[in-house]
Amino acid sequence: MTMSHHPHYPHLFEPLEVAHLTLPNRVIMGSMHIGLEEEKDGMKGLAAFYAERARGGVGLIVTGGISPNRRGALGPGGARMASGKRVREHRIITTAVHDAGGRILMQLLHGGRYSHHPFAVAPSAIQAPIGRFKPRALSGRGVRRTIRDFIQAAEATREAGYDGVEIMGSEGYLINQFLTTRTNKRTDRWGGSFQNRMQFPLEIVKGIRKACGKNFVIMFRLSMLDLVEDGSSWEEVVELAQALEREGVNIINTGIGWHEARIPTIASMVPHGGFSFVTAKLKQSVSIPCVTTNRFNTPEKCEEVLAAGHADLVSMARPFLADSDLVHKASIGRPETINTCIGCNQACLDHIFQRKTASCLVNPRAGKEHIWPRITSVPRPTPKLVVVIGGGPAGMSCALEAAKRGHKVHLIERGQTLGGQFNYAKRIPGKSDFQQTIRYFDVMLRELGVVVHLGQPATAEWIQSIDPTDVVVATGVLPRPLKLSGIERPEVLSYIEAIQNPDAIGERVAIIGAGGIGFDVADFLSHDADERLGFHESWGIDKNLAAPGGLTPAGNRKTAREVHLFQRSKDKMGAGLGKTTGWIHRQTLRQRGVHFHTGVNYEMVSDSGLVYTDAEGKMQTLQVDHIVICAGQIPNAPLLPVLKMAGDYAVHCIGGAANASGLDAERAFMEGTKLGRGL
Ligand code: NAP
Ligand code: SF4
Repeated sequence: MTMSHHPHYPHLFEPLEVAHLTLPNRVIMGSMHIGLEEEKDGMKGLAAFYAERARGGVGLIVTGGISPNRRGALGPGGARMASGKRVREHRIITTAVHDAGGRILMQLLHGGRYSHHPFAVAPSAIQAPIGRFKPRALSGRGVRRTIRDFIQAAEATREAGYDGVEIMGSEGYLINQFLTTRTNKRTDRWGGSFQNRMQFPLEIVKGIRKACGKNFVIMFRLSMLDLVEDGSSWEEVVELAQALEREGVNIINTGIGWHEARIPTIASMVPHGGFSFVTAKLKQSVSIPCVTTNRFNTPEKCEEVLAAGHADLVSMARPFLADSDLVHKASIGRPETINTCIGCNQACLDHIFQRKTASCLVNPRAGKEHIWPRITSVPRPTPKLVVVIGGGPAGMSCALEAAKRGHKVHLIERGQTLGGQFNYAKRIPGKSDFQQTIRYFDVMLRELGVVVHLGQPATAEWIQSIDPTDVVVATGVLPRPLKLSGIERPEVLSYIEAIQNPDAIGERVAIIGAGGIGFDVADFLSHDADERLGFHESWGIDKNLAAPGGLTPAGNRKTAREVHLFQRSKDKMGAGLGKTTGWIHRQTLRQRGVHFHTGVNYEMVSDSGLVYTDAEGKMQTLQVDHIVICAGQIPNAPLLPVLKMAGDYAVHCIGGAANASGLDAERAFMEGTKLGRGL
């Protein structure tokens, strides 16, 4: 790769010619389903969403997956592409992106056996372990019709003004299902040898190239590491990549892991760029540009893999929810002003599973650009003088939005740093990116002139001395105190004490409460073996790519500590955790040998240890060195009644200080952002 003259990221800002396009940099915004695709007027929302990212300077945008036909849609009524009305609808998006100076591909995705409806089809009638419907095996005619639908859908995208398509050939969707013997048991010309199994994607690509001509980008998302049994071998991956190049594919994107794989591929415990070794290896076998992906979230890391020659481009998806201006901020040499994606999945992927529009925990405006325009484009109100008490997620986001509105803002925080509960979260394995959120707000608050008072408790007198028009109480939460005999004993610790002083924790630990924080603390106290093994060995990923699917026996993850996790509810452990991450946390703790106790009643803490009644009603005593309380939170707003009585200013209360039940950082950021925008 040649280098641009960019002072900080010379490889990242090196332009690249692809088909008829000149990409101004090496960053792709990867495909994400936003949930607006199926909504009435959703195209307007998507247009605003994509246009903002195009203005932010990203090299190339890829839409969320759109099916080439009805059977391939991921759910009933799922978005699909065809000529006529849909072409007209999609022009709203392509016009907005092109007017903003961007380039955009539509991703064509056929769900195959991952389609959640009774009309699902697949190479063979084998239900997916994560699927609710058994698919029907496509007939030979059905296969040819599906290929034709892909080609016609690509023609429709061209008519709609897209610069090309990304063909979704990974993640275990239909094309991937044709490629492996795991899911393709056919005996006709589409099954059997790998030569036969790869004909399906090759026919699609050949047909699209013929129908859409040279001035049309074809990117193929190739599953380079299936991470499932009977997945593709490395030799097959290379053979397919070379055949795709011969058929006229312009760019190869990296796909890692089928959705049914039991290995995390994008969650926060995946190291940044932890799969770029796969792209690097494939790059040696093809001459078209290769894109690497998964858990990139900073321009530094992108530059690093590009400079090392591991890839020609880097695709990031969720980081563009967190910050639409990521590329622009990198280009002007201000990476410290980037709102970094923390890989939590809570407001993006988990929303999609809850059938809600995707957004972002650290940027609640994502996905709402059409209804929440940029603050700078909204008429400014008469400036107010605002005091925000509390520098956690709710307080920081409120102060920032209020400052963007032009108000004079003071933020007062009792602790020595901003961040509130994020200061504990960032110490949990895999959550170090939470520090990036604190850094972002720290930089931006100061940049926007917010006066930040750290290490200072707010008093009514001090607030009076500022003489504000508005006071925002965002003082967060306190650990819920438990009424349990022996709770005052020195071996009983709050989760805050445990996280702040892990070396003081003994070899046998009981954790009371198995919500988000109980799981975090169990992870924190049991990650010794994983730390030694590293991510790939802990999860059984073969970095030599010798075995089919890239699987190898996982290392021994057993922890040296004896950790017991308790909850009173009889539900599955971690039932309230995020849909896309809960299974990872459960699997991790099980493999480490953490003991799960559900349906218990706590009786007391005594000299002999934790006394509880088990799910069968039997009294038990567990000898432990320490007991860590993770039993939820209560609001912490001692000043609120006093401030309300003062009557000289408007008082607002947000986040955990207002309501701690079920509070998570997503709600705190949302409430802070909403109030700040509304002041
Ligand atoms: P939480 O998720 O509500 O869990 C509280 C736990 O305490 C539950 O397991 C509950 O289980 C137990 N509990 C409640 N009242 C109790 C009582 N009186 N005595 C004994 N046990 C009691 O709260 P959290 O763990 O403090 O987390 C706070 C918020 O942060 C939550 O919204 C959580 O989702 C979020 N968070 C999320 C993550 C994540 O990875 N997504 C990580 C950390 C925090 P039983 O009632 O069954 O005993
Ligand atoms: Fe990233 Fe979390 Fe935002 Fe999703 S919700 S984009 S994972 S920070």
